[in-house]
Amino acid sequence: MVIIMDPGATAENIKAVINVIHDKGLEAKVMEGTDQRIVGVIGDKRKLGDVTFESMKGVETTVAISKSYKLASREFHPQSSVIDVAGVKIGDGEPVVMSGPCAVESREQLFEAADIGKAAGAQFLRGGAYKPRTSPYSFQGLEEQGLKYLAEARERTGLRVVTEVTTVEAVDRVAAYADMLQVGARNMQNFGLLKAVGKAGKPVLLKRGLAATLNEWLNAAEYIMNEGNPNVVFCERGIRTYETYTRNTLDLSAVAAIKHLSHLPIIVDPSHGTGKWRMVQPMAFAAIAAGADGLMIEMHPQPEKALSDGPQSLTPEHFQRVMDGVKKLSAFMKSEGIEPMEAE
Ligand code: PEP
Ligand code: MN
Repeated sequence: MVIIMDPGATAENIKAVINVIHDKGLEAKVMEGTDQRIVGVIGDKRKLGDVTFESMKGVETTVAISKSYKLASREFHPQSSVIDVAGVKIGDGEPVVMSGPCAVESREQLFEAADIGKAAGAQFLRGGAYKPRTSPYSFQGLEEQGLKYLAEARERTGLRVVTEVTTVEAVDRVAAYADMLQVGARNMQNFGLLKAVGKAGKPVLLKRGLAATLNEWLNAAEYIMNEGNPNVVFCERGIRTYETYTRNTLDLSAVAAIKHLSHLPIIVDPSHGTGKWRMVQPMAFAAIAAGADGLMIEMHPQPEKALSDGPQSLTPEHFQRVMDGVKKLSAFMKSEGIEPMEAE
């Protein structure tokens, strides 16, 4: 951080600022300009706590230089991280696919979706047992029974299970059944929930908030990591814009930005990102081309009968086609040496 002093700041004013910096165990460096002086703070800015230099005499403004997130930042961790979820590696160069219905509706529906996902080459089964629905009258999920079906489907197929946790109270329950905890878009800044999943001992899939900036998203990851859990994977799922044709606007530039700003892997969810099954395949391919570490795709044995998100769910046949394309695209990129720039 640098503190820009008023042109009329006195030597006492500068001394007072330096004293505050030293009191917090940090170093100060004064830079003389022609009209103005600037005080640089050297060291970990977190030590400053809530100090507001702006309220001190002779201070014009402050400018943050380093990022407020440290653990999630590539600055302090140049090597890309590979996150191991019960033996499946996310971020090692092979795209990982998480597929399944929006919601767990019944044992039969889930098992069918799991079998289809497994046969097509997905590594994860997704499905919500606790659904964050806009209307309280919409299907809310099977709750713990849904978690039990997910665990049974894992036994049956060997797929890893990722499922959403919507409340702090449910964290331990969901962690007892799932391999990976999903924090949904609507909870991305539920700081109590972020801290709780940070303590739960399971990897976390952190979806981007509906209106979250990248900085807010990265700081949400920081909350989880700050509790001692380094295993966080981002999931871009579209943001709200003025466009109404699609459910959300899928921000694929976030893949490149997150890869530059963070060492953590990022996957893309073109289902919630577009809200339209027809757009899932092209956006899935684009995500892989952009360097995403994987995909989350909603697929339902019978989308027309889905209790939630049917319009964006792929049929098993379409899902198979997406998987075939993703495999070919990824193999082609590898064989041709097409590698998105990451840390540069
Ligand atoms: C989901 O993946 O089921 C879901 C509700 O997604 P999002 O939080 O991105 O809306
Ligand atoms: Mn859904």
